[in-house]
Amino acid sequence: MREYDIIIIGGGVIGSAIARELTRYKLRVAVLEKESDVVTHTSGRNTGMLHAGFLYKTGSLKAQCCVEGNREFDQVAKELDVPFKRTGKLIVGFTEEHRQRLLTMIERGRANGVPGMELIDRQRMDEIDPSAGGNFAIHCPSSGILDPFIYTIALAENAVKNGAEYHLYTEVTGAEVIADGRHVLHTTKGDFACRWVVNSAGLRSAEISAMLGIPGYVIQPVKGEYFVLDKKAGAFAKIPVYPAPTERNTFDTHATPTVDGNVLVGPNSFNVVDGEDYSVRQVGMDGLQESGARMFKHMKREYYIRTFAGARPKRIDPATGEIQDFLIERRDEVPGVINLVGIESPGLTSALPIARRAVNLIREKEELIPNPAFDPIRRGVARFHEQSREEQARLIAENPDYGEIICRCETITRAEIVAAIHNPLGVCTVNGIKVRTRASMGRCQGGYCETRITALIREELGKAVTDVRLTNGDSRMFTGYVKGGEQA
Ligand SMILES: Cc1cc2nc3c(=O)[nH]c(=O)nc-3n(C[C@H](O)[C@H](O)[C@H](O)COP(=O)(O)OP(=O)(O)OC[C@H]3O[C@@H](n4cnc5c(N)ncnc54)[C@H](O)[C@@H]3O)c2cc1C
Repeated sequence: MREYDIIIIGGGVIGSAIARELTRYKLRVAVLEKESDVVTHTSGRNTGMLHAGFLYKTGSLKAQCCVEGNREFDQVAKELDVPFKRTGKLIVGFTEEHRQRLLTMIERGRANGVPGMELIDRQRMDEIDPSAGGNFAIHCPSSGILDPFIYTIALAENAVKNGAEYHLYTEVTGAEVIADGRHVLHTTKGDFACRWVVNSAGLRSAEISAMLGIPGYVIQPVKGEYFVLDKKAGAFAKIPVYPAPTERNTFDTHATPTVDGNVLVGPNSFNVVDGEDYSVRQVGMDGLQESGARMFKHMKREYYIRTFAGARPKRIDPATGEIQDFLIERRDEVPGVINLVGIESPGLTSALPIARRAVNLIREKEELIPNPAFDPIRRGVARFHEQSREEQARLIAENPDYGEIICRCETITRAEIVAAIHNPLGVCTVNGIKVRTRASMGRCQGGYCETRITALIREELGKAVTDVRLTNGDSRMFTGYVKGGEQA
């Protein structure tokens, strides 16, 4: 049986932030993740906004963690090499009723500690971003955009660098407490033992909570669908544009530029039973076309390159259905369990503040000894197309693989893909390479490069081509050979 001090169930942005924070101390830390990568579920299926914190009830954990996470993110992005831009945000209105809601929102923002929010007119909106819809808006300068894939991966890689161990394809299926008080977790890859278990299982967090001895929580998955727009549309989008909040204080469809120059239009929002079913509906996309056009004046079909969906794990009151705050708890009657349930939006922004709160709950029970070797710095794969001509020439002279373009749409070189294949987490799927390099995220969506990436995985890792997968389970890139086998 493998033994650790602390085991984290779920390696998304929350589990990985907790793993990283725990490696600041002398502890044996493991993360058990059921999928092939850490960005398979909600952490890889969101808008990538660094939220400011004006939407949430004053004093709530959502408000506190969001404002704290926003404030520190310049430093975090620098330490972890995460693409990030502090763009600001417009929340636009059309009617007098919208104006009143926006004014209330400014008040709440001030009470929550969000700096610099102001109501602006159309003239000022045009100076900021003429492609934004609306007659007036709140300008919130502290909002930003980040790469949610790279942020999650960076936290995980930094945790690994500092000693945490990730076990992918490892689903926790049961748990028990043994005579000496330790937890034994039964998984699809055998048993693991530890003194502390952290539940950061996202959409499955209520299920894992019950498994660990804390029943009664209810997660309502709320799905959101998106369009991804080509970089040609991105050329018009300078700043995220959100509509005035609804009566229920939620946002409808918004238009958000990504750090790499695309535009995300969405998400909509509706309850589902299976949060891990990421199919999108025609009716949903038709709705986004209409509502997106109100936010972004360049919402044209010719710019659509992809759709996707994600699901927010909302914790609801089982009696009233009302949405609850983030839950981060330790209960004396269930020793050795740190339980995180309902980490929906703004979970990405709040990941490190949430992680610090989770670690503090452990510190209340035992002394944590600092790890003098902890290094907060992580460097990603340098992007060739972002370098100067001189630097590009130097890189090619040093390593000719920089001279071969594998993804033509995004100008990703063979050297970048080879580096990504040897990533610290050992992820070796085609999607794993995509989220680390952007190869196949362009206009052709992998038509040119996916087979080449498959061939490189095969070459670098010595795998049979029929063993290379797109993502999880049986998503094989190739199922067999024609014309007589591999040599043909
Ligand atoms: C549509 C949408 C838009 C959003 N936009 C934003 C935004 O712009 N800004 C923002 O701050 N937040 C946003 N969020 C919220 C944010 O994405 C989430 O709060 C955050 O990603 C949650 O991270 P997580 O690690 O808890 O969940 P996940 O990423 O889902 O990680 C949980 C992990 O647990 C694993 N797991 C589950 N069960 C088991 C098991 N039995 N054994 C092993 N592993 C298991 C899963 O495979 C999964 O990888 C958005 C969310 C959605 C859905």
